[in-house]
Amino acid sequence: MHPWTGPIVSVIPGTGEVPRIYDDITGTLQPSVVSDRASIYVCGITPYDSTHLGHAFTYLAFDLLVRAWRDLGVAISYAQGLTDVDDPLLERARATGKDWRRIASKQTALYKADMAALRVIPPDSYRGVVESVPQIVAAVEWMIDAGHAYRVPVAGPSASSLGDVYADLAVDPHFGSLSGLSREAQDRLFAQRGGDPDRPGKRHRLDPLLWRAARPGEPSWDGRTLGRGRPGWHIECAVIAAETLDQPFDVLGGGTDLVFPHHEMSVSHSRAITGLDQPARLTMHTGMLHYDGQKMSKSLGNLVFVSDLLERGVGPAALRLALISRHYREDWEWRGREVALAEARLNRWRDVIGSVKPQGHSGEAIAKIRAALANDLDTVGAIAAVDEWVNAAPLARDRTPYAAADLRRAIDALLGIKLY
Ligand code: ZN
Repeated sequence: MHPWTGPIVSVIPGTGEVPRIYDDITGTLQPSVVSDRASIYVCGITPYDSTHLGHAFTYLAFDLLVRAWRDLGVAISYAQGLTDVDDPLLERARATGKDWRRIASKQTALYKADMAALRVIPPDSYRGVVESVPQIVAAVEWMIDAGHAYRVPVAGPSASSLGDVYADLAVDPHFGSLSGLSREAQDRLFAQRGGDPDRPGKRHRLDPLLWRAARPGEPSWDGRTLGRGRPGWHIECAVIAAETLDQPFDVLGGGTDLVFPHHEMSVSHSRAITGLDQPARLTMHTGMLHYDGQKMSKSLGNLVFVSDLLERGVGPAALRLALISRHYREDWEWRGREVALAEARLNRWRDVIGSVKPQGHSGEAIAKIRAALANDLDTVGAIAAVDEWVNAAPLARDRTPYAAADLRRAIDALLGIKLY
């Protein structure tokens, strides 16, 4: 699937440092790349309510990492999935009387337009679940054969005799290592986030669905020996990552709400498919955006959409700057006034960096931006470095003609903000 047309990214003198990021598994900062190649898989949207500011906050964080890798000069493989068939999408279709495919294609188009407007560098590989069904079927068949999965009968007169397929977590000794949660917390989150702990016939309450046999009124695909049906949620990301990236890959990314069960399960499936104990070297998770005192989420209905703000005349550069003004791991409350603050800051940067007179040497400022971003993508520190240069610029005596141009390009290349 074609992602979106990417921005032209400025080139700046020198190279950046290896970005270190916070790794959930070890709880420490780790180098995000250990060779001349960097690879990342980021979970994509489920296209029925896109793109709210929580989504944008997440994808901007990974965009900053990709930009830091580009600045480092390593080859990058960036894959992103798209959950273009899943229960929430089908529920939305039922509730609105619309075709699920139309909702998915419209919302996916909106997401792509929002990402392009925010100057997010597109993934090299953008794969939907629907186009990946044959590969997912092959993986589930293999998991059954290898003893990592089992069938559960489906009740009802029109039910498939083959049944649903579930992963057997008991055969994975590493299950639980990613999230480090207690069994009680696992059970609670599994039930809250799409799991079915009480489904009769499962070997364990937490065992996740891999293949859902066709049900009346639901879309289904040819599953060969599995029978007609559709994929479960977690297996899709394991398969798309295995199909698109060399294994192991460097970073598995998404919002904090994906740590459990989605990433825990998905990595467990990846272990089964690849035979590697640690298919993703690091995991990186972004904080949650709140609005009106609660997490911004579809179920609560308190969403602020990127497209709505852009339609109301908010500049995409100001919106981007407003969102990256918070560290990516922070949970924070969107109050709306962030845009005005970002616009004021942008105007100040444009005035000073764009004017002829105050062109002090900017190499030190660029080094500070690079150092801040290498330190767990510290955008707060990077923005402070620009502010510091801008505030000192009228006093600078060294008026190197190209210095401000370099800083302008660095703000574009590293922070994704084009001043002109
Ligand atoms: Zn995923």
